[in-house]
Amino acid sequence: MRVLIAEDDGVSRLVLRKALEEMGYSVQSAKDGAEAWELFQKHPFPLVISDWMMPGTDGIELCRRVRSLREKGYTYFILLTARDSKEDRLHAIESGADDFLSKPLDRAELASRLSVARRILDMEHRLRDQKEELELKTQALEMSQEMIQQANLRFRELFDNVPVACYTFDAGGVIYEWNRAATLLYGWHEYEVLTRSIFDTIIREEDREAMQALIQQVMQGNGSIGESIDRCRDGSTRYVLRSLFPLHGSAGEVVGGICASVDITQRVQYERELRALNERLESLAFTDALTGLLNHRAMQDRLAEAFAEARRGEATFSFVLLDIDHFKRFNDTYGHQAGDEVLRLVAQVLQENAPSGSSVARYGGEELSVILPRHRLEDALAVAEALRQAIATTPNPYRQITASFGVAEYMSYMHSPSDLVEVADAALYEAKRAGRNCVRPLLEDAQRKAA
Ligand code: GH3
Ligand code: MG
Ligand code: MG
Repeated sequence: MRVLIAEDDGVSRLVLRKALEEMGYSVQSAKDGAEAWELFQKHPFPLVISDWMMPGTDGIELCRRVRSLREKGYTYFILLTARDSKEDRLHAIESGADDFLSKPLDRAELASRLSVARRILDMEHRLRDQKEELELKTQALEMSQEMIQQANLRFRELFDNVPVACYTFDAGGVIYEWNRAATLLYGWHEYEVLTRSIFDTIIREEDREAMQALIQQVMQGNGSIGESIDRCRDGSTRYVLRSLFPLHGSAGEVVGGICASVDITQRVQYERELRALNERLESLAFTDALTGLLNHRAMQDRLAEAFAEARRGEATFSFVLLDIDHFKRFNDTYGHQAGDEVLRLVAQVLQENAPSGSSVARYGGEELSVILPRHRLEDALAVAEALRQAIATTPNPYRQITASFGVAEYMSYMHSPSDLVEVADAALYEAKRAGRNCVRPLLEDAQRKAA
């Protein structure tokens, strides 16, 4: 340990120096207070032994100066003195002295004072180390606290400003956080829903069980995404795309969940309207506007299907083509409007009397057609005859209407649906030629020829 001695008396200085060096101290000595102060300023000492009475800067003054220097380490200050009045010593202690050594110097006393000094310096040293360590720890703690605060703030800002309704909940569905977008979507303010259950607020009674199952899934660490209908404060409902994620505690355990709900009400409404429009469009595309029967295109589709089925050998079918008799004359007499009325009436009679499973269509103009699945020619002729009679006996506000029928059955030599239509058309021509208001098939060789 380094020691600074301040002593104006040469002999005393030497004696003290020798004694200290023998005890293993590294000693520097000054012949007065001023020199000692200079040495101390250059390099502070942990231990100073100074004479009290010295010319110029005395021991008390030196002690004051040492104390005024707020250096890192503590300096243990021992005053050498022959003065032992109580007032003197109190004055010295007030000035910062730690201990006294009587003059003339006694070696045993020196040794014991020094051992006290070392103990105190040691302790001071340890305390200083601990204090430094504590200061570092405090600093680190303050920093991490600030970081936590910042992270909290950031999370809060993100949570609040994200344009998606978010809330957190525990295993029982109790709400713990609620953001601004959630207020906008559901109408509930944060203070109204915090610590309340999602089942008393946004989840509809009929969805309770499904939601409980989802929460259970979340508590097991699994997220989910799906569409649902949520309840709002005013009793209205919104369609939402709902994402659920587990929320973890510090030990990695699941403590609850977070829910993010995107309002898709408008999209769902658009989709519904679009679907309805599409359905309407589709039916328009296949419906004849005047009669409400299948139109020519739809008839061709059905015919193609039936033809392909028959081709595969699954089932035969027949095709009936009918044409209203002397319709031109009817129009000329009663007007086109009345003609339209009659067309609608005939269409209705066909719809009502055709067997179930058959497809009645407006083939074109005043020609109508019926596809009869699983009907052989004979059965088809019977159906056509029944339809003919139904038309011929339906009361009409203008005058009795009749129609002529041509009937054909699918035959394996036919290449395409139009072959079948041609045969039916030829049969219809036969019916017209035979005087109208009757049903005609084509005989097989005539069929073959026509096809
Ligand atoms: P036939 O007994 O030989 O069939 O005599 P028809 O007068 O019915 O023969 P034609 O095929 O020459 O005439 C068909 C008429 O059907 C011509 C047209 O005025 C009428 N017609 C076609 N489509 C419509 C329609 O949508 N509404 C009305 N009112 N008449 C139509
Ligand atoms: Mg015609
Ligand atoms: Mg006609």
